Amino acid sequence: AIKITALRKSFNRVAVLKDVSIEVQKGEMVALIGSSGSGKSTLMRHLSGLTFANRNSPSMVEVLGRKVQQNGRPAKELRATRARIGNVFQQFNLVNRLSVQTNVLIGALSRIPTYRSLLGWFTDEEKLKALEALESVGLRQHALKRASDLSGGQQQRVAIARALMQEAEIILADEPIASLDPESSRQVMETLQRINQEMGITVVVTLHQVEYAQKYCSRAIALKEGEIYFDGSIDGLETSLLTDLYGTQISEGT
Ligand code: ATP
Ligand code: MG
Repeated sequence: AIKITALRKSFNRVAVLKDVSIEVQKGEMVALIGSSGSGKSTLMRHLSGLTFANRNSPSMVEVLGRKVQQNGRPAKELRATRARIGNVFQQFNLVNRLSVQTNVLIGALSRIPTYRSLLGWFTDEEKLKALEALESVGLRQHALKRASDLSGGQQQRVAIARALMQEAEIILADEPIASLDPESSRQVMETLQRINQEMGITVVVTLHQVEYAQKYCSRAIALKEGEIYFDGSIDGLETSLLTDLYGTQISEGT
């Protein structure tokens, strides 16, 4: 589902990603971990085509068998690829004053004709599909509420339903539970795990707390100062490795 080769990214001449190469197979649920500033979000943004590698670097990013970027330039098929990538962010990114159901319907916008998307007009079939997506994340009964009336964890599950409405084949979630309490975090991670297992949707999720990676993901990719420090089965995350990765922070508040 993902192939990254020789990804190099610098900001103001400071290298943030140094020759990163990764492959993820369809149907995997992968945790991307590493201390603050290690480059996790930057890597995720490259996958979504929101950031591009250094110009003329040998970098290549492919998602769902299509190029996103190459040599630091957007690929021709970027828009088509993006339409199949669901993004979930720390801050939920819902439109607060719209209903939950309408927020889910927004996921369909990239696939419907322009005149309809401009009018915000959806077919009955699409509305039904939005309710089904809400059902999959356990929120069907909240469809008509305003998005801002839901709890943080519920809002994040609406964002996941929006990705389902989008017919995303991969979900990239950057710190989806960083603003949530433990109970909401558990529900969001279980939702991601369920759609991964039941629908075969590939999930890549960045997490600050390693315990959540260990509980819900089968594979971990760890970044340290812009380089791959570990890539393998989640069981391979030994204590000594985590200490190396996070220093002493690991014992704090976790
Ligand atoms: P966190 O766990 O805090 O979210 P992260 O692993 O996601 O951290 P990134 O946000 O990818 O880290 O940042 C990696 C490095 O790149 C940091 O040093 C950051 O300051 C730098 N950086 C990221 N985006 C930019 C930008 N647009 N301009 C300049 N520097 C940037
Ligand atoms: Mg980040």
